[in-house]
Amino acid sequence: MVIVFFGPPGSGKGTQSQELGKTIKDLIHVSTGDLLRQEIASASELGHRLKSKIEAGEFVTDDIIVQLVSGILRKNVKKDIIFDGFPRTLQQAIAFDTLLGVENLKVDVVFDFDIDVHVVIERVTGRYMCLGCGAVYHKKNKKPKVDSVCDQCGGIRFVERKDDSVDVLETRLKIYQEETLPVKKYYGDKGVLKRIDASLSPDEVTCFIKTALLEAGLIRRGE
Ligand code: ADP
Repeated sequence: MVIVFFGPPGSGKGTQSQELGKTIKDLIHVSTGDLLRQEIASASELGHRLKSKIEAGEFVTDDIIVQLVSGILRKNVKKDIIFDGFPRTLQQAIAFDTLLGVENLKVDVVFDFDIDVHVVIERVTGRYMCLGCGAVYHKKNKKPKVDSVCDQCGGIRFVERKDDSVDVLETRLKIYQEETLPVKKYYGDKGVLKRIDASLSPDEVTCFIKTALLEAGLIRRGE
């Protein structure tokens, strides 16, 4: 099963990927943003080149992204996969269909995380993550249960993403409108798009996604 989580920054795609991973066995979560941040952290030459682009909120080129995804897909053809943050341009969506076609696969469902831009700004500008495990928190809405200790791994070091500042977020939202929104029409025309009210609570969104997957016969009851 191939699922795409589509939506602006801060719409909850990462959170929902983690939640679904807890219930659907062996589900692979592919976040192109996480992969790129790992590349930067590895201090590779490629990571070095990507760093300034990402911190400025700009897109990485389609070639690099498609190559990254292609490698992952080849290793996981038999697995259930969520793509979070990919495809993000029409060219990526078309290249993705070609890659999937080679493996006799297709995009089964695209969840469109629909959310007001004001909510996005509020969510993104207050968020930070655990350096140990990547768990995401928010200064106002989602603090760890014990102050400054990660709920998931007990880590005590946290970091804010440079691209979560208000200025950079504005750039990201503008690029989202211009480059990414056409992808929504592409999947709408294929009849695989499912809208989610992403302003609902995380639990409600998870419940919606699971129900939709169940109704589409993509997961079984109990998963
Ligand atoms: P968000 O969805 O909150 O914008 P991500 O963690 O998914 O954040 O991505 C962070 C950054 O990584 C993006 O702003 C962009 O620079 C780069 N990136 C991630 N995925 C893609 C993609 N599919 N195409 C181009 N650039 C990407």
